[in-house]
Amino acid sequence: MLEDKPASLYSPPAREQALGALANATLDTLVVGAGINGAVAAAALAGCGAKVGVVDRGDFAGGVSSHSSNLAWGGIKYLESGEWRLVRKLCRSRNRLMDAYPSTVREIRFFTSIGKGFRMWSVFVWLGALLYWFMGSCRMAAPRYLTTGKIRQEAPVVAAEGVVGGLEYSDCYLYDNDSRFVFNFVRRAVDAGGLAANYLAVEGLEWLPDQSCWRATLRDRVTDRLMSLNAKSIVNATGPNTELLNESIGVATEHRHILSKGIHLIVDRVTDAAKVLTFFASDGRLFFVIPMGPKTCIGTTDTPVDDPSVGVTAADRDFVLANANALLNLPKPLTSEDVIAERVGVRPLAVAGDVAGRDWVQLSREHQVEVDSERAFLSVFGGKLTDCLNVGDELVSMIADLGVDIPNPNARWFGESGSGCRAKFMARAAAMELDKLTPDSASEPLSVRFWRRYDRAAFDLLDDIAADLTEAEHVLTGAEYTRAELRLIARREWIVDLSDFMRRRSKVSQVVRHEALLKDPGLEELASLLVGVSAAQQVAAFRG
Ligand SMILES: Cc1cc2nc3c(=O)[nH]c(=O)nc-3n(C[C@H](O)[C@H](O)[C@H](O)COP(=O)(O)OP(=O)(O)OC[C@H]3O[C@@H](n4cnc5c(N)ncnc54)[C@H](O)[C@@H]3O)c2cc1C
Repeated sequence: MLEDKPASLYSPPAREQALGALANATLDTLVVGAGINGAVAAAALAGCGAKVGVVDRGDFAGGVSSHSSNLAWGGIKYLESGEWRLVRKLCRSRNRLMDAYPSTVREIRFFTSIGKGFRMWSVFVWLGALLYWFMGSCRMAAPRYLTTGKIRQEAPVVAAEGVVGGLEYSDCYLYDNDSRFVFNFVRRAVDAGGLAANYLAVEGLEWLPDQSCWRATLRDRVTDRLMSLNAKSIVNATGPNTELLNESIGVATEHRHILSKGIHLIVDRVTDAAKVLTFFASDGRLFFVIPMGPKTCIGTTDTPVDDPSVGVTAADRDFVLANANALLNLPKPLTSEDVIAERVGVRPLAVAGDVAGRDWVQLSREHQVEVDSERAFLSVFGGKLTDCLNVGDELVSMIADLGVDIPNPNARWFGESGSGCRAKFMARAAAMELDKLTPDSASEPLSVRFWRRYDRAAFDLLDDIAADLTEAEHVLTGAEYTRAELRLIARREWIVDLSDFMRRRSKVSQVVRHEALLKDPGLEELASLLVGVSAAQQVAAFRG
């Protein structure tokens, strides 16, 4: 899944500054890979006072972490395989995320219908949901049993023929998208003094003969230039590529990854219900119809693969469309013409020993961290977005155990700014009547959106808009980004390539058809705000 090289030689000032500081630096920890595991590692270590650098050979969250189902969930389905400990851990993790990110990690109802012949009676599934609710400390709305009559009445989009009952329960989802959630941890690391660079690949690691530290060789994939730095410890957070890096330097581990491919298709909204519709697909596995802004995201699949470089095949697409058409009451069946965008990634599942003959779907989704203490090298296996705070906490204490100085091991390294700061922001926004400037096409007031996306950095937006009201105008007709936001993103979010914004800092290219984006009168202005001098070249590349 290595992203193509960026379309131009553009490198924004924040990235250039980071590259300058990384070259020849001596770090406490170099984190290789900025998916969710690497991003939380960097945020946690920087927040606790370590000198940390995090690099990704593609864009931040350009790997698996931008292809998930966008759910922060306790893993109700793992109850079936008896993974009580994992479910309890994920539920607690989800609750922590919900408390720490009230604007971003939101409770949502899962509306589940169960077909005739399902492997369990629907009442048992409901009892499972009740247990799940208790395991999540009853923090969310209680589950309820649904008769077929209720399903017909409350969700007419669910094809009720052959349905014998159902249930509704709560879990959480990431309001914006997974990759923005991940990026905000990278940004948090930088705000705490860490260094971060995208499109910077680790090409070599050498444990120096005097045993004092690692020497890393990195390639800037924008200019192709090589640089090096020293680090007292390394966190290998390269997701599905963990073994590749380990093998290149002779690190042996008990765990390894096996890979499971999953896809989602994004189509026009199939229902206005703000719920995740949940089904058991024709292969017996969970199948979701998830609200995604103005669209609907449908999936997923679970297919064993050997190679992490995957794409959506016709068979994958047909499977998702066939199940959606069978499970939903739609005015006309969905076809591949209805697909606006696709998502595809591999779940890196951590396994140890021989897994031959074990039921594929029952393999644990728990993360594992292995430490080579002699060489201060940590490898992260598996994991989920939901579990990310645990990964960050664990890595801090493991790095401290290696003897690296962590000045403030108990510092709070995650979470939105406190309610006092939010109240101050909202009061200032109200005083300048910001929400009256909300464009008619917007789905929510500007103040709410600004705070959720940018946290305390959103104060800058108020200054810019107060100085010039046209800064509150949307630039693209098809997406909700004001001029002021794009300037802020250009300053703070390392946009090297237009796709970094379109696909990862935002979900624009997932919810607006490519043809519509190409025709959007704001495309040139958006590019010039985000990637300055390279705008014309990048728009040409975007147009293909
Ligand atoms: C279809 C699907 C649905 C999912 N749904 C959910 C969900 O709803 N909720 C949930 O909690 N989890 C979900 N997951 C699981 C979750 O998305 C993954 O477990 C998680 O994103 C993996 O993160 P990671 O950091 O390990 O890997 P990645 O995100 O792949 O990050 C690894 C990074 O390392 C970089 N890298 C590799 N080699 C180098 C190198 N040499 N130098 C520098 N950088 C390098 C890569 O470019 C990449 O960005 C889902 C997964 C899939 C596939």
